Amino acid sequence: MLANLLIHPGKTELCEADTPRPSRGEILVQIKAALTCGTDLKAFKRGHPMIPMPGLFGHEFSGIVVETGRGVKRFKEGDEIMSVHTAPCLECSYCKKKLYNLCEKIMETKVLGAFAEYILLPAHIVRQNAFHKPGNITFEEAAFLEPLSCVVHNVEPLGIGKGHKALVVGAGPIGILHLLLLKEKGATVTIVDKHENKLQMAKKLGCDYVFLSPFLTPSKTRPSLPLWEGNGDIGFDYVFECTGMPEVWESSVSYVRRGGTVTLFGGCKSGTRVTYETCRLHYDEITLKGVFHYTPADVKKAYALLCKKSLAVSRLISGRYALTRIHNAFEKLAKGEGIKYAIIP
Ligand SMILES: [Zn+2]
Ligand SMILES: [Zn+2]
Repeated sequence: MLANLLIHPGKTELCEADTPRPSRGEILVQIKAALTCGTDLKAFKRGHPMIPMPGLFGHEFSGIVVETGRGVKRFKEGDEIMSVHTAPCLECSYCKKKLYNLCEKIMETKVLGAFAEYILLPAHIVRQNAFHKPGNITFEEAAFLEPLSCVVHNVEPLGIGKGHKALVVGAGPIGILHLLLLKEKGATVTIVDKHENKLQMAKKLGCDYVFLSPFLTPSKTRPSLPLWEGNGDIGFDYVFECTGMPEVWESSVSYVRRGGTVTLFGGCKSGTRVTYETCRLHYDEITLKGVFHYTPADVKKAYALLCKKSLAVSRLISGRYALTRIHNAFEKLAKGEGIKYAIIP
């Protein structure tokens, strides 16, 4: 089979590899659509601790089952499926506490390699986090299961509804998915980003207010967002940080109202640190919440949202590339062009 490897930051290579055969509990999936993701882009630009190089990459996908291992009952050859690339071990101390997203093995037992003709799904993923794709959604829409599960994990526990005001910082793919889910819940949503084209996209997708701000460019100076001048507003109920830049993690706290919540979604470079004003956290009783990955329950919720076609996820696809042209997709993303690209084998 053909498979794209990430050799080192900035370099991908299309290779001929052995097509894997499924063992007990596993299934072999022919990829019909795979999507680029912010994590892939980070790996392409600067390397990523969770994506070893040289190695296969790509983790958002959907496809058709071409072979099943012994003991697989739920799927058979020819089934159209959608899946995520991880599942918890159900045995470690975090799994025993039902903190499945924090499972000690969840990252080491993940599967990468969606930018290829085939992917072999391990048994623990087949059992917990693979689903039949209904006929009413496309393979591209189905491939949103993974990123949407992350966003569901962040937004769902907050109980957001009509009357809530949310600020999404960063209009990349994850920021836009936050927008879609928050609008679905009835919140009033503002997005801030440094790219005009992304804000226009957010507006088209129903964002109530957009702000172009150079403050998302890394800088040492304290950023300012001219949102509250003169309108007597008190700040956002919720702020969703979706950039993964430490200075934006810090500034996000400036925009939340007293008693509000800031969730920190964007992963920063390892070793980076942030500082916060103690008064804001203490007297204003602000909740700062880190969020990572998702549980099987989140994946089920994301699956239901996609099957109901509740969110216009296909609008996030900025273009399509063949396996041989994956480099072009990442070069565009690296220049800030486009939201997500579909890689079609
Ligand atoms: Zn992803
Ligand atoms: Zn575990």
